[in-house]
Amino acid sequence: MVDAFHSCSALKDQFGRTASYLRLSVTDRCDLRCTYCMAENMTFLPRKDVLSLEELYRLSTVFIAHGIRKIRLTGGEPLVRKNVLSLFENLSRHVDSGELDELTLTTNGSLLSRYARDLAACGVKRVNVSLDTLDADRYRTITRWGRIDRVFAGLEAAQEAGLRVKLNAVAQKGPFEEELNDLIRFAHERNMDLTLIEEMPLGGAASCRSLSFLSLGELRQRLEERWTLEPLSETTGGPAKYVRLRETGGKLGFITPMSCDFCSDCNRIRLSCTGQLYTCMGQEGGLDLRDALRQSDGNETVAQLIRAKVFEKPRGHEFHIGESDVSGITRSMSTLGG
Ligand code: SAM
Ligand code: SF4
Repeated sequence: MVDAFHSCSALKDQFGRTASYLRLSVTDRCDLRCTYCMAENMTFLPRKDVLSLEELYRLSTVFIAHGIRKIRLTGGEPLVRKNVLSLFENLSRHVDSGELDELTLTTNGSLLSRYARDLAACGVKRVNVSLDTLDADRYRTITRWGRIDRVFAGLEAAQEAGLRVKLNAVAQKGPFEEELNDLIRFAHERNMDLTLIEEMPLGGAASCRSLSFLSLGELRQRLEERWTLEPLSETTGGPAKYVRLRETGGKLGFITPMSCDFCSDCNRIRLSCTGQLYTCMGQEGGLDLRDALRQSDGNETVAQLIRAKVFEKPRGHEFHIGESDVSGITRSMSTLGG
């Protein structure tokens, strides 16, 4: 008898969801050390463990052949990977051919002014830039040494190159709450959407999450006192829920992995830069594709492993933050990207 996961080439899981969106981490390295993401003295992976850009591309083609329609490059910081543009160039051919609907990236923006035009030339249409504050000192505190002027220059360059920009901000208790209305105005005045992300309990960071964790449910109630939030029905098959602010006309997204269940229509899978395939961000345990990839010239073994792993995608994540306890995942956010 043929197993259900062998019976078609689309990546279907046991609960009937189809994976069509790949988040591809191209490096675990980063030029910043955001407190909620990494420890200051991070130990990065030995280079031999990290897939080459050619290997990342080869794996991507297997995913594309199985119906992946959208690829987002992430990290670590994707733009610190040497020659990363060559991967964008290779993948852009699949945008040109219509196999991919979208090729995009999430970046901290520090190198965006250098790369924006080339990214646009590779068919990238949109970029997510992470920015939690507009204040230079606070930016330096959060990122440990980042320079906010470089992000502002990156945002400008991206828009000049014709890229649509969305800002991502991790919500935390404290100054973030006071600054949020300014961040909303900043984004919407510049025709950028803004998405707020609930802090996730992944490993590697120094911050004490049960102190900093801010529920977006609570925050949304407070925003409703200041703004008129008009719910939008669009979904990306991911955790974000969007509203339009009547006063600005701009979009505001809420990513709430901690306080609501977005898993039932999740269409995502994730590949680490070492070739570990994860079908759920909130679960331990990836499947190693690197050895199978390196040990064979053909792709069929890897393809079989991918189909089997996606078939077993769990129903939902296992995050939990309580009043005084945090139970999460030991892997750091920079291993897989957001
Ligand atoms: N370096 C790039 C950047 O910062 O945009 C891409 C990788 S970063 C890991 C992707 C996203 O994850 C960023 O928007 C970042 O703010 C977010 N992030 C990092 N650690 C997080 C955490 N513990 N909880 C929620 N979001 C987190
Ligand atoms: Fe680097 Fe992005 Fe993590 Fe900040 S959130 S440390 S920029 S990978």
